[in-house]
Amino acid sequence: MAGEPQDDCLFCKIVAGHVPATIVRETETTVAFRDINPQAPTHVLVIPKAHYKNAAELAAAEPVLAADVLREAQSVADEEKLESYRVVFNTGAGAGQTVWHAHAHVLGGRGLQWPPG
Ligand code: 5GP
Ligand code: ZN
Repeated sequence: MAGEPQDDCLFCKIVAGHVPATIVRETETTVAFRDINPQAPTHVLVIPKAHYKNAAELAAAEPVLAADVLREAQSVADEEKLESYRVVFNTGAGAGQTVWHAHAHVLGGRGLQWPPG
């Protein structure tokens, strides 16, 4: 069920401490950790601790929690001293979503092209 931990979800396992991750920030409702396959010098994922399959489901069900994730993304950028950065929610397989637990990518530390591919 939306909001409940899922046994087969990688990011729920990271929240539970059952899969290791390099955690950079944690709040009551969110965790931020380094992406295992970084696409930029800074590539951090910010997730809600509660399980929602993507940003669309999260925003619809828990808009305050969605705002927590967005605020944490900005806090990561501050901590990493990023002057320019990108916050991305890949939403749906066609947009490149591969992990079905909502997450924001925080990317920075190099020049980023727009539009992305
Ligand atoms: P998506 O493609 O769903 O937007 O992003 C999923 C991200 O999770 C990818 O950038 C991928 O590198 C990252 N990822 C996949 N497995 C792991 C893992 O076990 N640990 C960490 N830290 N990141 C992971
Ligand atoms: Zn999950």
